[in-house]
Amino acid sequence: MWLARSSCGESFSFVCRFNEIRLLRMAADRKRKSEGLGDETEEEEGGNRRRRIRINNKYIGAHVGIQGGIWKAVESSAALGAGTFALFLGSQRSWKRPALDPAAADRFQEKCSALGFDPDHILPHGSYLMNCGSPKDASRSPRVGRSSDFALRSAADVSEKSRALLVDELSRCSRLGLRLYNFHPGSSLGAISTQQCLDKIAAAINHAHQQTPAVVTVLENMSGQGSTVGGRFCELRRIIDRVRDRSRVGVCLDTCHAFAAGHDLAADGGVAAMLDQFDQEVGLRYLRAVHLNDSKGKLGCHLDRHEDIGKGNIGLSAFRDAVNEPRLDGVPLILETPGRPGFQDGEQIELLYSLSDVFTSLHQQEVWFDMNEPVQTWRRSETGSGVPGWKIGPAHRKCLSSESSAMKRRLLLPPPQAACASVRPDGE
Ligand SMILES: [Zn+2]
Ligand SMILES: [Zn+2]
Repeated sequence: MWLARSSCGESFSFVCRFNEIRLLRMAADRKRKSEGLGDETEEEEGGNRRRRIRINNKYIGAHVGIQGGIWKAVESSAALGAGTFALFLGSQRSWKRPALDPAAADRFQEKCSALGFDPDHILPHGSYLMNCGSPKDASRSPRVGRSSDFALRSAADVSEKSRALLVDELSRCSRLGLRLYNFHPGSSLGAISTQQCLDKIAAAINHAHQQTPAVVTVLENMSGQGSTVGGRFCELRRIIDRVRDRSRVGVCLDTCHAFAAGHDLAADGGVAAMLDQFDQEVGLRYLRAVHLNDSKGKLGCHLDRHEDIGKGNIGLSAFRDAVNEPRLDGVPLILETPGRPGFQDGEQIELLYSLSDVFTSLHQQEVWFDMNEPVQTWRRSETGSGVPGWKIGPAHRKCLSSESSAMKRRLLLPPPQAACASVRPDGE
């Protein structure tokens, strides 16, 4: 028998009968309402019941596709149970794009408000073609010889096209009612100095700010691969220092890139240490978004190789710290992980929400979980009725009875009603 304590201090033996579960939920609801901790909604659409839980002012979502129409991103994020999302604003293959269809933009905005997505937390991602730091007057650079004339001409071309694309993408954001726009700062291509490259990026941002209304340009920290810039916080700071309207510039911290660039997020307190350093070198007021990605590469490898949450070299406890970090309140937390069978975006979002301590204090059921067990033994399962439920497999019970193992970490159970849906058959 598991002991569950409600957030109000009452104790319940967790026998998974409807009555107890309902009481537990009511206590949790009371606590949430009294402390304004977030909201929980249930929606019915097309016969499928969905629950979206937002707790602790954390907005967790994934980068989703726009195939079939830009509003599809909103629908698929709702289906994932996400609190926010990221999306591309057009094809990643071409510089020139068809104009944004006003009807599609309206539909996107309607879907956002109907499905409860706050446009201030949605994080469009800039085109990968863009390099605002691309060398333009590189013929003056002593490091480049005549043999690379062609490469220089195309670099100058990229520079112009990138400036134009930045303006175009910011205009699209404002037409969609979005406030943030995240992009990779750029690369010197080894043809100009890092400082020159950073200055060019700031100039492109200033140019785009003049041409467009109030969207915030959000620079992403990079892994420091090759001649890309933005791998060090001081480089981001240099760009920000040269932006005229600082209310329109911010940073998106990518955990995989930070780890690859040398921030040891896998260490105890690694996430907090990175934020401390960010605060010192850049300033937390510029932190506008986070990409939550585990890393296939090792610490300091400078490789940009994303891995599923908890499956890479960063590990689950760093992500647990992230979803409990008050400095990340109200900041979009976006997954860009590859996904694997049974552990796609929806499961990873749900895992991250479940790791929040506020979630525990609301639902107060804790078990010990063996991190070596495959995730499928405890991940969410769909019951026949289409109501999300959780499988509480033998792995759980085994762990409950052997709490001394060093490999065990605390895992937080899902909310009572969901737990009930799958436990009920043998509980009654
Ligand atoms: Zn990115
Ligand atoms: Zn990356």
